[in-house]
Amino acid sequence: TAGLLGLALAVGLAWVSSHRFSRALEHLVDYTRRLLEGDRRESTLTARQDELGGIAGSLYHLSQQVENHVATLARERDRFEAVLDGMSEAVVSLDQDGRVDLVNRAGLELLALDQEPLGRTLIELVRAPELQALMARTETDATAGTEFDLPVRAVPRVLARATKRPTGEAILVMLDVSELRRLEVIRRDFVANVSHELRTPISVIRANAETLADGGIDDPVAGPKFLSSMVAAADRLSHLIADLLDISRIESGALKLERESVEIEPVFRNAWAAVAEKAAAKAISVVIDVPDRLAAHADAGALEQVITNLVDNAVKYTQANGHVELTARQAGERLRLEVRDNGPGVAPHHRDRLFERFYRVDPGRSRAMGGTGLGLAIVKHLVTALNGTVGMSPAPGRGSVFWVELD
Ligand code: ADP
Repeated sequence: TAGLLGLALAVGLAWVSSHRFSRALEHLVDYTRRLLEGDRRESTLTARQDELGGIAGSLYHLSQQVENHVATLARERDRFEAVLDGMSEAVVSLDQDGRVDLVNRAGLELLALDQEPLGRTLIELVRAPELQALMARTETDATAGTEFDLPVRAVPRVLARATKRPTGEAILVMLDVSELRRLEVIRRDFVANVSHELRTPISVIRANAETLADGGIDDPVAGPKFLSSMVAAADRLSHLIADLLDISRIESGALKLERESVEIEPVFRNAWAAVAEKAAAKAISVVIDVPDRLAAHADAGALEQVITNLVDNAVKYTQANGHVELTARQAGERLRLEVRDNGPGVAPHHRDRLFERFYRVDPGRSRAMGGTGLGLAIVKHLVTALNGTVGMSPAPGRGSVFWVELD
């Protein structure tokens, strides 16, 4: 009997303890499932002192670590994406088969794409033989670079660099250098123009000085002529240098403009006074028509230089007995100043380029008048610095209207 009782007790105890153990095991399985589903709360099992508690605790710490790693990876990925998207260079990543697996924002813009062309090949994206040749070079050189016109909408000039990774993937980086190249051409042209403009008066001075030195100085008729042509050439040089200095001061930002209320009428009067002698010699008349006390919000010196340059041109290019009108009026929110003449006007195909440096309709005539070809470029720079706009329209009948609009 005692044996049977002992056996029954043992079976009962075994049953109770295996039941408790299997309940705890079920909890552990549930807990593991919860962790997998993303519920990171700690289980009550971890408080247990036995092996199951140990396993639950380890699982909990493991899940915490995995979560930390995943968060770090996500942060890294976000940072990587932010860097890629913040780059001005276009980046295209290609897999081992040469298919696109990533394009950044600048890349989408440069290639004129609306969405990432994942899975497509480069040739499907852009039919540029230069790009194919570049990628082919990476088979032997690992990295290779080239510059070419990309055949997409705006045909930008791009500097491309391709790198092949040992794993077979390739990275293509392209930078739009159109603006840079355009500025280089402008700078080259400018240097060539300046050299040309400087060379002419210097040659005149040199030739005349040589003639004088060779005995011309003793010639009572020709001597003074040579001298006065040297003075004229020197004058041209000094005008040219003054205009070049003005341009470089404005372009480099060294010229500080201070905007204040500037009455227009005195500006017109001062500008006319500066050319009055020239105008009188050609019997050119002027009318100044400005509403009383009309004022602009501008830099007084800059505005006066703008108007003086325009008035000087009007007098320079208008024939004898011509007429110049200086007017100003409020046009909505803006103030419009006009310098109108009844001179030869400017043919339509020249109008767009008038404000470029050294652009002249008739270079010979401009030089003969002492023009440097920089007057309107200075006007444009100054007006832009004053947040205004400037332009030229034909005057009804005959002549030109050079206008400036300011806020
Ligand atoms: P320039 O020193 O040659 O006068 P500008 O830049 O002042 O240089 O002017 C550029 C060109 O625009 C001139 O060479 C001239 O052909 C033309 N131009 C400027 N103003 C007038 C005007 N009022 N009437 C006719 N042509 C003008």
